[in-house]
Amino acid sequence: IKKIGVLTSGGDAPGMNAAVRGVVRAALSEGVEVYGVYDGYQGLHQNRIEKLNRQSVSDVINKGGTFLGSARFPEFRDEKVRQQAIENLKIHGIDALVVIGGDGSYMGAKKLTEMGYPCIGLPGTIDNDVAGTDYTIGYLTALNTVIDAIDRLRDTSSSHQRISIVEVMGRHCGDLTLMSAIAGGCEYIITPETGLNKENLLAKVKEGIYKGKKHAIIAITELMTDVNELAKYIEDETGRETRATVLGHIQRGGQPTAFDRILASRMGAYAVDLLLEGHGGRCVGIQNEKLVHHDIIDAIENMKRPVRTDLYKLADKLF
Ligand code: ADP
Repeated sequence: IKKIGVLTSGGDAPGMNAAVRGVVRAALSEGVEVYGVYDGYQGLHQNRIEKLNRQSVSDVINKGGTFLGSARFPEFRDEKVRQQAIENLKIHGIDALVVIGGDGSYMGAKKLTEMGYPCIGLPGTIDNDVAGTDYTIGYLTALNTVIDAIDRLRDTSSSHQRISIVEVMGRHCGDLTLMSAIAGGCEYIITPETGLNKENLLAKVKEGIYKGKKHAIIAITELMTDVNELAKYIEDETGRETRATVLGHIQRGGQPTAFDRILASRMGAYAVDLLLEGHGGRCVGIQNEKLVHHDIIDAIENMKRPVRTDLYKLADKLF
């Protein structure tokens, strides 16, 4: 391995820059050249690829977003488009590609690997929905952002005896909602793992009011229901003012926390180690504090993320 490429893809996450920096600095220290691909698979297809040096990643470790840019590029599902991408990599003499992104980006990396081009996947997403890792890069930063928002909602909800519904990101994974509900002291948690039963929720909210609760905060994962309609339903049934807040893209921005910077740096350097050891078609994770790697095809097709039943039980006790 003499030259490697690196790209960020899918939804951006705080810490992606630190991961790119980790790849670049670790590779250069081993005498390997690094090429940055702009705007994910789109830039790969359009051959927007540039050589990076040490300075290319100066002053980025503390920055949110991704300086390489990211894109949604559904065309990458087309084999001809991927073939062109591989040809572009070959023009530059790039032997392997590090892809930093979520499970969608892993699909692209898996397909390139199946076409004979070695990729290493690094989990970069605030959703924590990637198999084979306890934490994804960006997740814990986003968690702090969500908690900050919930704390603010709590102040105003409590003052007005209001019910608040807060919609949290995570796509089809409830981790961000569950953890932010525990840390933010929310009364009710609704995630893809628990499902939404409106009648049950209403009964619990009414019970809380009966017990004299001044306010209620309901944390719910995005894409489950229309939260404004849910708020109206609860308000109509309880007579208490109920407001929904969709946190949205606020959750994706901001400076990465120390944990995410360190995790990203470690994973970036580890990806380079794996490539130098001759591995390809792997994805990196951290499990029980140790860096690990799994077959990327296996990770997508067979591995499942564990549901944190222990934490759901804890949450039940705390409310
Ligand atoms: P994330 O990586 O955050 O999950 P997406 O699901 O949008 O975000 O995926 C990012 C990109 O990965 C897509 O825009 C597309 O370019 C590529 N991708 C996703 N699914 C596939 C697939 N089945 N085959 C090839 N490329 C894919």
